Amino acid sequence: MASLLIRGGTLLTMRDGARAERGDVLIVGSRIEDVGRVEPLQDSEIIDASGCYVMPGLVQVHVHLVQTLMRGAAEDLPLLDWLRRRIWPLEAAHDEVSLRASVRLGLHELLTTGTTCVLDMGTSHGGDVVAEELASSGIRARFGQAMMDAGDGVPERLLESTRASLDASSALRTRWDGHGGGRLGYAYAPRFALSCTRELLEAVAALSRMTGTLVHTHSNENADERVLIETATGRAPIAYLEEVGLLSERAVVAHGVHLDDAELGILAGTGTSIAHCPSSNLKLGSGVADVPRLRAARVNVGLGSDGAACSNRLDGFEEARLASLLARSRGNAGALRAGDVLLMATRDGARALRLDDVGSLQAGFRADLVIIDGERLAPGGDPATRIVFGGGSRAVRDVMVHGELLVKNSRPTRYDSGEVTAKANEARSALSARAAVS
Ligand SMILES: [Zn+2]
Repeated sequence: MASLLIRGGTLLTMRDGARAERGDVLIVGSRIEDVGRVEPLQDSEIIDASGCYVMPGLVQVHVHLVQTLMRGAAEDLPLLDWLRRRIWPLEAAHDEVSLRASVRLGLHELLTTGTTCVLDMGTSHGGDVVAEELASSGIRARFGQAMMDAGDGVPERLLESTRASLDASSALRTRWDGHGGGRLGYAYAPRFALSCTRELLEAVAALSRMTGTLVHTHSNENADERVLIETATGRAPIAYLEEVGLLSERAVVAHGVHLDDAELGILAGTGTSIAHCPSSNLKLGSGVADVPRLRAARVNVGLGSDGAACSNRLDGFEEARLASLLARSRGNAGALRAGDVLLMATRDGARALRLDDVGSLQAGFRADLVIIDGERLAPGGDPATRIVFGGGSRAVRDVMVHGELLVKNSRPTRYDSGEVTAKANEARSALSARAAVS
């Protein structure tokens, strides 16, 4: 098996907090063989990391790759208008070419800014196209095809029967779960309570229990959405998701902005993880999730940039920076430190996806890591502070997933950047024309 030694860097292993130490990382095949003072094996390729920080790649636990082409096409609208007037018509208008271009543009952006693993929501068609693009990118991913069998204002192309939705997801799970040596895995993706029947949610809960598959949904994002769910179900949103059996340590719920104390208790008691998406929450005017309160209640919280249609950038380091700043907005400057948000962006994200060998630099773990060029960060401060507040993503030099360098000297190895952008631009125009939104 090929071996590679990353030599002479400052390591943030994320094993015991964000403490930094000088050292090397030896990689054999897809896994880390050793960390610390390490000698190369015979034939090891050597990567010089002097002057660099080496840390686990970022794990983003909520993204919508199908929305990358919709960047800038749905500005200044609150959640439900944003969905009904812009995003759903655009998702409905996707064809294979535009889906491929959208997912590829998103993955190019994620990889070159240091994200090595994502949880993706898809849309309610084209799951195989998304999976093919995930597979050919080299990234680690958990993904699902969004499930929608109900809801006001859902275009016909996105609306499925309960049976068809379940069958499509199960077929995708069978085809793709475990693909690429475990790089890909399936996650059932009922979009949110307002677009799913109770029957669908209960069936997904049963399938997830039976097969151990992740469940990925949105909830408690926006005040209006909360009221609509309460009116429709007679329950608070999280209480409803618990009632249908959806919440467990296999569940990742995006947002959790508007939560009462009882809902917080349910999240903690069921082991459900929250995907905190600060850019998206701010841009759609949804509010600010109280992350220190969630963490104090022992709810696992990971980070996500959501879709480019709301956050405009898929930069995981930017989400970490914003998460840290927003947590302080309630008056406590130490509420969520740079080291805390780096842990959320790596180890806690991996935990949400039940990846117990991802998110930390340790022997036996998958070789998913980033090398950050210290000279391209604003100077001054400890390593975690420099990476979070000094411009982490723009200093990403090399990115490795599953032992393969997918970005080398800031250039993607599997993509031609110019071609990805050109195809995306072409597909964006055609998609807007088909959707009749500009
Ligand atoms: Zn989302």
